Amino acid sequence: MEDKDKRSGKTTDVLASTQTVIKKALDKLGYPDEMYELMKEPIRMLTVRIPVRMDDGSTKIFTGYRAQHNDAVGPTKGGVRFHPNVTEKEVKALSIWMSLKAGIVDLPYGGGKGGIVCDPRDMSFRELERLSRGYVRAISQIVGPTKDIPAPDVFTNSQIMAWMLDEYSRIREFDSPGFITGKPIVLGGSHGRESATAKGVTICIREAAKKKGIDLQDARVVIQGFGNAGSFLAKFMHDAGAKVIGISDAYGALHDPDGLDIDYLLDRRDSFGTVTKLFKNTISNEELLELDCDILVPAAIENQITEKNAHNIKAQIVVEAANGPTTIEATEILTKRDILLVPDVLASAGGVTVSYFEWVQNNQGYYWTEEEVEGKLEAVMVHAFDNIYKLAKGRKVDMRLAAYMVGVRKMAEASRFRGWV
Ligand code: GLU
Repeated sequence: MEDKDKRSGKTTDVLASTQTVIKKALDKLGYPDEMYELMKEPIRMLTVRIPVRMDDGSTKIFTGYRAQHNDAVGPTKGGVRFHPNVTEKEVKALSIWMSLKAGIVDLPYGGGKGGIVCDPRDMSFRELERLSRGYVRAISQIVGPTKDIPAPDVFTNSQIMAWMLDEYSRIREFDSPGFITGKPIVLGGSHGRESATAKGVTICIREAAKKKGIDLQDARVVIQGFGNAGSFLAKFMHDAGAKVIGISDAYGALHDPDGLDIDYLLDRRDSFGTVTKLFKNTISNEELLELDCDILVPAAIENQITEKNAHNIKAQIVVEAANGPTTIEATEILTKRDILLVPDVLASAGGVTVSYFEWVQNNQGYYWTEEEVEGKLEAVMVHAFDNIYKLAKGRKVDMRLAAYMVGVRKMAEASRFRGWV
C-alpha cells in the first residue's frame, strides 16, 4: 500500500512491479508489445465519492474505486477491500492479479477489484451498512452478474456482501444472487467459500512440502496475519499435525517454539483478526518473518518480504496467501537461496475458485454440498500447482514468472481472437 519503502528507498510500487513481471511473461510467450500495452493497465477504472451519514449526524465523503482489468475471457471478478491505505494504483494492481488468478485456475473470468479508503475498525455496523450500499449505488452501472462480480477481500465479509447484494437487487428490481460472491449461505452463498482461500493455500503447502521432502507432520509453520486466510490456515495446519510456532496481526506477533494454542487464539480473535493485544510477550512482525521455521506464510498485506529481510528468511518454503507480500528483489533473493516460493496468484486462488463455484450454483439455482465443493477445489488447485511447477522447471524460471505465464496466456489469446490486438 506504500509506494516507497522508507528504510531502503527502493520502489515498492505494486503496480510497477506487476507490470514488470507481466512484460517478462508476455515476452517469454512471444507476444508483441501491443499485448503488453493492453495488459499493463485495467481497461476500465472508476473512481467514486460516497457520501455517508455518520451516527453523530455528520456526513463523511469516502473515496472508492472499481478496476476492471480485462474482460476478453468473460465478466471481471474480484473482491472489494475496506482499508485506510487503499490507493488507485493498488486497486489496479490487484485487478491485474485477479486476471492472473482466473487464468491460472482456468475460470471464465477476467480480473476486477474494488476498494474504499476507510477504516472499518473505527466505524459502527450501521455506518458500514450505509457505506456498502453507497458504494454499490456508485458503481452499479458497471457491475452485474454478467459484467463484473465483486466478493470479499481485506476487512470485508459475508455481511457486507449481503448489504451489497440487497442494494443491487433493489436498484435492478429483481433478485440477483450472482451479482456478488462470498454471501451468507441463506442468500445463495456456497458451502466452503469462507475457508476456501486457506484451503487452497493448504493444498499448495502440501504440494510444495512434497517437492521439498518436508513432512507436514511436525513441520514448523509461521503465519503472518490472522484475518480470513491466516486464521483458517492456522487451524488447517494445526489439524494436519504441523506446529504453528508464530502468528501475527497488525499490532504484533506471538511466538512459541513448541507450538501455539491455535484453538484458544481463534476463540479470542476479534472479527478483524486482532488477538495479540491480549498478550504481554509479543514480538514484532519483522521478527516474526525471520523466525527459524520450515514454512512461512505471509497472509497479511503487501511488501512484507523485501531485499532488506529476504536474506534472513529461514523457511525452506514461502507460500504467499496475501496479495503481493514479496517484492521483485526479494523474489530473486529467495530463488537464489533455493527457497521454494509459491506465488500469491497461485496460492491464494482458492478464494476466487470457490467464488466461481458459488456463481455457477446461483446461475443454476442448484446447490452443492461442502464435500462436492472441496473435492472440486482440490482438483483445480493440484492441477494448477503441478502445471506451474512443471513450467517453472522446464523453462528454468521462478514460480512467480511461470504463474504469470500461465495466468496471462488465456487472456492474451482471447484478446487476440476478439481482434483487440
Ligand atoms: N478477494 C479474493 C482474492 O483476492 C477473492 C476474490 C473473489 O472471490 O472474487 O482472490
